[in-house]
Amino acid sequence: MTPQPIGEPGSTRHAAPLLASVGIARRHLTPRLWSPRLSGISSSGHVALTYDDGPDASSTPCFLSLLAEYDTRATFFVLGRHLGDGSLLRDISGQGHEIGIHGWDHTATVVRRRGRLADDLRRARSQVEELAGCEVHWYRPPYGLLTRGTLSAADAAGLEVVLWSAWGRDWTRRATPHSITRVVTGQVRPGGTVLLHDSDRTSAPDSWRSTLGATRLLLDIWRAQRLRVGPLSEHWSQPCDGVAG
Ligand SMILES: [Zn+2]
Repeated sequence: MTPQPIGEPGSTRHAAPLLASVGIARRHLTPRLWSPRLSGISSSGHVALTYDDGPDASSTPCFLSLLAEYDTRATFFVLGRHLGDGSLLRDISGQGHEIGIHGWDHTATVVRRRGRLADDLRRARSQVEELAGCEVHWYRPPYGLLTRGTLSAADAAGLEVVLWSAWGRDWTRRATPHSITRVVTGQVRPGGTVLLHDSDRTSAPDSWRSTLGATRLLLDIWRAQRLRVGPLSEHWSQPCDGVAG
């Protein structure tokens, strides 16, 4: 894998993670930190469906409607600074979806001091729990970049870090519903975790529309394959579940 540049905070370009792409590359680059569970891999036949970068009033409701149509639940990793009055959070939680923390903002954690990061994560977690009335367990750092300090900060905030085992490269200008679907289906296995984005906040403008189209295609494919798809809370039958293939 060719390392790619990390996007600047607030950039409209969502660059690929430097350290934590998919599978072997991540395992090779972060050997002492890597574990199947960190990559969202369980021994169940379940596929975890996750969305990053929301909540976004212009796009997140479209994903909620589509998921309701398919009677499918997912995990939404949200940014604390975009919680607003909490109405979108309550919609997400009220429709049975799970909420995780993607950070207070989209700054890469490797440039944050551990104490500041832990404070931000506690702040984001408490605001989500207060606004949505749900418990929050998961943290996915922006760009999937992490260090031991990231893991330690998450632990201090009572959160477990989880990344992904498949993505759709849905943040680019050239992504289409079919390209995203092709990339995801080429990577995901039963027991894996899929990363998509329900907002174009750090992606190419309007890229979420392609992600929405891809979500429908993927749900059709997974339904035909009789794959169980849902949030991370259903991904591990036991707290320390083991490795998928
Ligand atoms: Zn993100």
